[in-house]
Amino acid sequence: MRKELDEKLQAEFTWLKRPELQRKKSYEFVKGYSLYENYGFDEVADGWYELIRNLCMEITGIYKEAGQPVTMKLAQAKSKFGRLRWYYDLPGRELGIHAFDIMGGSGLRMYPKGEENSLENKLAECVKKYEAMSGCICEHCGADNAELCNELPVFRWVMTLCPSCKEEKIALYNRKMKEREHKKKEDFIE
Ligand SMILES: [Zn+2]
Repeated sequence: MRKELDEKLQAEFTWLKRPELQRKKSYEFVKGYSLYENYGFDEVADGWYELIRNLCMEITGIYKEAGQPVTMKLAQAKSKFGRLRWYYDLPGRELGIHAFDIMGGSGLRMYPKGEENSLENKLAECVKKYEAMSGCICEHCGADNAELCNELPVFRWVMTLCPSCKEEKIALYNRKMKEREHKKKEDFIE
């Protein structure tokens, strides 16, 4: 996600605010901090900005309704197999592992859980809902008519795109291939 969108989210939701990390190299992982604290929304595309903003508003609302300050700690936000993954911890309910992913399979996704109707369960339901919703939101433009794109060789990893962004991506791929082909010929002539 673009830096300014990431910063907008941190400014709007104080519980998303990340610490200033001292790094020697810009991409260095600083131990003792989560992936989110290290890399923010780097692994989420711009098209999901609104989706994430709505998710954060709903999370904030659930806490407000319970008369509590937000204690959710985001551990990592990313796109996995074309779906949003929102890995988080709650105080005293740290998960360590949030999911087991099996190539091509459904795997296992874990959420911090509590008693029936508890704050923990409401949060889990909310996150689940948005993770499922991401399946039709274009990662590129945010349109809500997206679908999974995984056709090789264009999509080397699964993406969720609307028909026009998909078309654009395929056109870009074809253009690149043509250029490469052209370059090969040129090299040969030389
Ligand atoms: Zn799109």
